[in-house]
Amino acid sequence: MGIDMLPSEYQRFVKAISEVIPAKNIITDPLLTVVYGTDASFYRLQPKVVINVRNEAEVQLILRKASRGNFPVTFRAGGTSLSGQSISDSILVRMGEGWKKYRVFDGAGKIQLQPGIIGSRANAILAEFSRKIGPDPASIDSAQIGGILANNASGMCCGTAENSYQTIESLRIVLADGTVVDTADDKSRAEFARRHGGILDALSRLRQRVLADEVLCSRIRHKFKIKNTTGYSLNALIDFDDPYAIMTHLMVGSEGTLGFISEAVYRTVVEHPCKASALIIYPDVKTACEAIPILQKQDVAAAELIDRAGLRSVQDKEGMPGYLKELSDTATALLVEVRAEIPDVLQNKIGQTRDSIAHLPTIYPISFTDNPDEYGKFWKIRKGLFPAVGAVRRTGTTVIIEDVAFPGEHLASAALDLQALFKKYDYNEALIFGHALDGNLHFVFTQDFSLESEIIRYRDFMDDVVDLVVEKYDGSLKAEHGTGRNMAPFVEKEWGEAAYQLMQEIKAIFDPQNLLNPGVILNEDRQAHIKALKPLPATHEIVDTCIECGFCEPVCPSKNVTFTPRQRIVGRREISRQMAEGRGSREIRSLVRSYRYPGKDTCAADGLCGTRCPVGIDTGSLIKALREEANSSFANLMADRVANGFKPVARTISLTLNTVDSVHNRVGTVAMNRVSGLARSASLGRLPLWNKEMPRGSNRILVQPAVADNPLKVVYFPSCASRAMGGPARAETERQDLPEKTRSLLEKAGYQVLIPEKIDSYCCGQAFESKGFFKQADKKSRELSDALLHLSRDGEIPVLFDTSPCLYRMKQHCDQRLQIFEPIEFVLTHLMDKLEFTRQDIKIAVHPTCSTRKMGLDKKLEELARACAREVVMPEDIFCCGFAGDRGFNFPEVNKSALAGLKEQVCSCEAGYSTSKTCEIGLSLHGDIPYRSILYLVDAASRRKGQKA
Ligand SMILES: Cc1cc2nc3c(=O)[nH]c(=O)nc-3n(C[C@H](O)[C@H](O)[C@H](O)COP(=O)(O)OP(=O)(O)OC[C@H]3O[C@@H](n4cnc5c(N)ncnc54)[C@H](O)[C@@H]3O)c2cc1C
Ligand code: SF4
Ligand code: SF4
Repeated sequence: MGIDMLPSEYQRFVKAISEVIPAKNIITDPLLTVVYGTDASFYRLQPKVVINVRNEAEVQLILRKASRGNFPVTFRAGGTSLSGQSISDSILVRMGEGWKKYRVFDGAGKIQLQPGIIGSRANAILAEFSRKIGPDPASIDSAQIGGILANNASGMCCGTAENSYQTIESLRIVLADGTVVDTADDKSRAEFARRHGGILDALSRLRQRVLADEVLCSRIRHKFKIKNTTGYSLNALIDFDDPYAIMTHLMVGSEGTLGFISEAVYRTVVEHPCKASALIIYPDVKTACEAIPILQKQDVAAAELIDRAGLRSVQDKEGMPGYLKELSDTATALLVEVRAEIPDVLQNKIGQTRDSIAHLPTIYPISFTDNPDEYGKFWKIRKGLFPAVGAVRRTGTTVIIEDVAFPGEHLASAALDLQALFKKYDYNEALIFGHALDGNLHFVFTQDFSLESEIIRYRDFMDDVVDLVVEKYDGSLKAEHGTGRNMAPFVEKEWGEAAYQLMQEIKAIFDPQNLLNPGVILNEDRQAHIKALKPLPATHEIVDTCIECGFCEPVCPSKNVTFTPRQRIVGRREISRQMAEGRGSREIRSLVRSYRYPGKDTCAADGLCGTRCPVGIDTGSLIKALREEANSSFANLMADRVANGFKPVARTISLTLNTVDSVHNRVGTVAMNRVSGLARSASLGRLPLWNKEMPRGSNRILVQPAVADNPLKVVYFPSCASRAMGGPARAETERQDLPEKTRSLLEKAGYQVLIPEKIDSYCCGQAFESKGFFKQADKKSRELSDALLHLSRDGEIPVLFDTSPCLYRMKQHCDQRLQIFEPIEFVLTHLMDKLEFTRQDIKIAVHPTCSTRKMGLDKKLEELARACAREVVMPEDIFCCGFAGDRGFNFPEVNKSALAGLKEQVCSCEAGYSTSKTCEIGLSLHGDIPYRSILYLVDAASRRKGQKA
């Protein structure tokens, strides 16, 4: 789609690479290229072609063909860059599925990583060795190794000592002409020297030239004393003799302009287990900054400065200390953290740190806490600053975060000068925070780019900022976010002519055709920073505050198959933008068509993205609202009918499943798979796809009359999924239906189990809500709430839901008098004292559903499982299973993609346990072990108190 609209030379390029790269991974559709082309910066370019690459050979092919046709190429990792360095108007190469291999070696002193691994995943791998990677950007939960390295990203603690430049051991690189070199591999080095000796000689010559120029040498040393990501890592030329080491270190911070990093080896750093933090409030920014040179001499891990505007932006948020509201207009905070291997050393460090700054006046006495809950609140203040501005900005405006660094001794006056500039240019909401220990200050403000006068205001403001940073203080214009397009026009001004000339020569050595990310780092256009500005039109109130940071992407089940939450929002914004511009209805219809499958149909609407979003957006809510808009009056009529006559629907599903199960029994799995696949193809994907884990329908649930003399009562609500499909799949060894199992477990604990009369008519409404039938959903939850209230004696008796997503919805919609529980919390609160547990000698897996995670019960699920089984596996990198009620039958590709990698992690487990029947179907299918409710495990591991084993 869209290929015909490409210039002919790009059509030829696409044809050439199509011989190797599958068509589905080459994207030219006009809407999709906008969507995949967007990063977190305030710049926008629309690529002509987006390619999801699977391996190094594909990158080589693309680079060779691009070099032959003179096509610019940009690489993309997590797309969280802020300076416009991961966008392209030509070819955008995204790391698709794969790129996730790693190897820990040298006693965990080193880790080899492919570039698609998310930074925090690398740290999770190293956690068991009390190690981590050095770089620690605040975006580490979303940014990938390729981007972290190519930006030389850093954060609150790593400073200039543990960033990628300092901790990189070796790289495997694909150069602009497709050549691959592994700087740690002797064979590869020898081959490279033979074929590309010219590059090595040129690097050595540059080094000799720099070493011979004392002024240049000391300029380079001086510039890297503080954090600096403006321009190339010129320190590589003076720090290393070996041309391969120079090459490796030049790649760090090169923002995809010198080559593609296909593998990296990091030296790991220690992760101290003991931590303590203090939020120290100083009367003004000057006093706070006076503490910095002193703290630099102490063994502190971080010292984050937050100005009054920053504190004000979060002071009303939940959990913030009340005194924040009472501070004077000049108050400034330093958030200081110390770390140690053992508690005694930590206490010593706390004492020394406190004593060292005791002579400086503070508003409150300095108080460190080593309680994770307490210091977690402090760090929440710090992490909430950028989003706080993003969340309150006017729709249509952009939130900008700048990233400058000053020599430590100038920090106080520089901060005051910045505040004066905000006043001069009327950036009244601007706030300052940053890694003061490294002289690095961020300032955040909002900007309207839809008016020429506003663009001029931004331009003039930035000119003054550049003068302030460069001329007055000789600081860095970009300390950690990378030069990008944003500071490219000012690199020469910051570094001077001689150093800039060096940078141009470096670029020419590696990329003589200037095809790798042109315009980034080096740009002759002095206005480049105010061109290609990203439009952020209003599209829907649920998502208008989105800052397109991409933090929501890693948890989304459809991320590798269609869109991520950010892409769903970007797609909607693009449609709204084109509509506002008066684009013809044919074009709009075509955009809407392009959006339907990746945007609307394949969203699981589970809302897990909301748990990662710094401004609290649940993109699933947008999609449900769009589904509601699209529901015709006929569809609504049908939904009304289903809602009003729920009993026969649930029964029909149950009976159908029983029939299908009998057929499966007779014809076998292979034939069933074939027939169902054919039927689905013939119906153009409209028929749901059968799979071998389809359960039987449940037996009818008996509603027993109340027994007056049992004081221990529980109301049990089997969800409609458990009622309709609570039976076992054909290969399942547990043959009891979920409702029967739950009832017998509750009775074992001594409960009398109450089940609502007319149980077959009730539903929490979730199935309606996810399809956008809100009216019908609310009606069903009201009916259920009324029935439960009645049966529980106005909330006196606890209510157990056997399915977490149903409970989650009811928590928001039921009468607040009800005490409702899902299985994990119910067992932990109500059954642990009534049953005796014997840990089973088995290895099992657990899967917290999205609702379990949203309710913060994932750790509790693990805790409960550990009480029941010897070994418990919580698979890494598996979040939402993507089954989403019945969507897993209609769009099974989402479920399959979301659970890629599950089988390998759970293959040695006997079974898996969760709290939602439909999720368990998909988990069993892709995990290749039976998944069932955690209640089965609790039942197997427990007996009534006092009963003999
Ligand atoms: C809210 C927020 C907070 C942030 N906080 C910080 C912070 O504290 N510190 C910080 O340093 N940054 C921060 N950033 C910026 C950004 O997240 C980091 O710089 C991050 O390292 C970028 O990684 P990425 O995977 O998103 O890379 P991308 O944005 O995809 O790419 C970054 C650059 O690397 C290049 N690239 C990607 N993969 C490769 C490859 N395999 N080979 C060669 N080049 C490649 C791209 O072309 C691009 O130039 C923040 C961003 C946001 C949105
Ligand atoms: S939805 Fe939230 S997390 Fe996702 S891109 Fe937008 S602001 Fe970032
Ligand atoms: S609701 Fe789920 S599937 Fe939809 S965008 Fe959010 S995480 Fe992705």
